[in-house]
Amino acid sequence: MTTLIKERAKSLNTFSKTNLAEEILRLKKEKNAIILAHYYQEPAIQEIADFVGDSLGLSQQAASTDADIIVFAGVHFMAETAKIINPKKRVLLPDLNASCSLAESCPPDLFREFIDKHPGHTVITYVNCSAEIKAMSDIVCTSSNAEKVVASVPLGTPIIFAPDKNLGAYIMHKTGREMLLWDGVCIVHEAFAIDKILKLHQKYPQAQFIAHPESNPEILKIASYIGSTTGMINHVKTDSGKEFIVATEAGILYKMQQEVPEKVLIPAPAKEDNTCACSECAFMKMNTMEKLYLCLKNETPEIHVSDEIREKAIIPIERMLNLS
Ligand code: SF4
Repeated sequence: MTTLIKERAKSLNTFSKTNLAEEILRLKKEKNAIILAHYYQEPAIQEIADFVGDSLGLSQQAASTDADIIVFAGVHFMAETAKIINPKKRVLLPDLNASCSLAESCPPDLFREFIDKHPGHTVITYVNCSAEIKAMSDIVCTSSNAEKVVASVPLGTPIIFAPDKNLGAYIMHKTGREMLLWDGVCIVHEAFAIDKILKLHQKYPQAQFIAHPESNPEILKIASYIGSTTGMINHVKTDSGKEFIVATEAGILYKMQQEVPEKVLIPAPAKEDNTCACSECAFMKMNTMEKLYLCLKNETPEIHVSDEIREKAIIPIERMLNLS
């Protein structure tokens, strides 16, 4: 065992007698820190977060906070976006390996080549990408505002949309705009199994099937509502339906059930055999309460973005925030 692991184990061991959540809250206050958590985080993290939301809501919170430290309980591109918006603040991520299949599908050198091959295009990138990719973009979007962002591009201007081909195809369908799509997918939303969903629907014939637009087209075709995580939560709150089959990362069910305790929420099944019959993002679940505590205590791992990349990446992010 390395010294560092031993120290961490000792630290957690001592600490296990006390309440992890209370200690995180104490440290947060002492350090004037804020915890921003994505809906896909485990319930214990959502409970102690100052704000729980989707990528757009989290970016907006990051832009308005006066905390000295932002602890981002989410994945790397989200923490990086918070750092780009707040260069003077320290931004921490409990596990630096918490990546995203969409961000990884779009390496900067290949994306540069793609843009150069298609001159004259407006480059719209889904927020699930690295700072380098954002720095090559004209405007960023989230699943909440992608339609609005695409509609803001003057008619007749060709568009590149990256990295999510499923979201891109859905927005093309919604707006009627042709776009050149990068070939990236979310491994979680790609994994939903249409045959299992249809079978589940036979068991719950009254249930509405609702889906995130990162899901593939055959899944979206059978959905009665398609929207961002926040959109899905609002839908189950305002719709008169009593049962919903929900196709997005299963972490959302915690917040959703709090909002509609009287309704039945069923996670959509994935293709692989899985014990919980639902989809979980392994990247999102790399964050744990223990790592969150250690991150706040030791003020590491920290996110860094070079000035050169930041100065370019902030422009398309601000364009998106202004449009939202
Ligand atoms: S759920 Fe998909 S899009 Fe979201 S972080 Fe995980 S891999 Fe990326």
